Amino acid sequence: MRLVDLDTEDLTGFDALVVSPGVPLNTHPLAAAARAAGVPVIGDIELFAQARRDLPPNKVVGITGTNGKSTTTALVHHILKTAGVPTLMGGNIGLPILGQEPLPAGGVYVLELSSYQIDLTQSLDCDVAVLLNITPDHLDRYDGFEDYAASKARLFSMQSAGHNAVVDVVSAADHDALRGSKDLVASFIEDAFDFKAIDDREQREWPALQGPHNRHNARAAVEVCDILGLDLDTIRMGLRTYASLPHRMQHVATRNGVAFVNDSKATNPESTAPALAAFPRVHWIVGGKRKGDDLDACSPHLDHVAAAYTIGEAAPLFFDLLKDKVPVVEQSGTLEAAVAHAAAAAQPGDTVLLSPACASFDQFRDYEARGDAFRAAVEALA
Ligand code: ADP
Repeated sequence: MRLVDLDTEDLTGFDALVVSPGVPLNTHPLAAAARAAGVPVIGDIELFAQARRDLPPNKVVGITGTNGKSTTTALVHHILKTAGVPTLMGGNIGLPILGQEPLPAGGVYVLELSSYQIDLTQSLDCDVAVLLNITPDHLDRYDGFEDYAASKARLFSMQSAGHNAVVDVVSAADHDALRGSKDLVASFIEDAFDFKAIDDREQREWPALQGPHNRHNARAAVEVCDILGLDLDTIRMGLRTYASLPHRMQHVATRNGVAFVNDSKATNPESTAPALAAFPRVHWIVGGKRKGDDLDACSPHLDHVAAAYTIGEAAPLFFDLLKDKVPVVEQSGTLEAAVAHAAAAAQPGDTVLLSPACASFDQFRDYEARGDAFRAAVEALA
């Protein structure tokens, strides 16, 4: 093995450059140098796709979308396990896929794929590829929304004929944006699977899949499992026994009749909106390092907000945005102050919800540290 300085190394003759999805391909000089030298820039998912040919016969489910990827990935993985199918999950969730013991024949790899990971993948032929939704996010790394949409659509262009696409792009705006982005995208929408199978009313039996957004995630997971040949009774059992992932609408405690819910993973207004919609009277802790200038995606659900507590870098802006729209707004600044004040103001039956609609990096290492701090602050309440 040779250690090289990539700033000075001539890349000509390299087979490939393997990079982390955190490297911004649009601006990083190394990506430009690799392109100029004709060297493919790939990630670990592409290495898996290439290694897959030598693995026992298997299937791959690839799941992308702006929001709901982890939930849907974990849910598909859980339903497969319930059915006794050998399965692993990886990609943007849990352990790296290449760090796990390969599955025996008949196994199903369930991969959560961010658009960055798809950008680094050229030959992943998913047996079932899923697009959950698509809203503006990460636009700093793309030349606009259509470029971002096209990146997600590549998951489908890598599929062989006859493999399945599950697409749950619901809004007309999403649909138009995708249609406009590339011809191939229009064709996968035409081919998309018709959602069917499980009655939405059954959702009340799924404790960890509440809220309108989880109905979408569950529908997508049901379709995937149906395509993979599982029977509906097993799928139903999986939906009922699924336990929520930490930091995603996770119930952490009930005190004096007030529920405390950690949704720290909601890092943009689109992912916060369904959390607001899921509870009738919310004391909403919101803010952090913001990704945009508005909270418009949350507007339809502000009637659920009894009070808002703004924190982090976004605190002053969000205070201004919300002050005429919800009954009470407080610029709390820190998460600890917000939890203490929300707990003091909440009535039995209310929910204190951390769903920040922002990244965490202004005050925390990551969204997990933020969620842990929320839990600690709740536990510290007298
Ligand atoms: P991702 O892995 O794509 O970030 P998660 O499953 O971790 O998505 O969910 C993150 C947050 O996004 C959740 O806490 C929830 O508030 C919101 N969310 C989940 N699923 C959806 C969906 N289908 N549509 C919109 N928002 C969603």
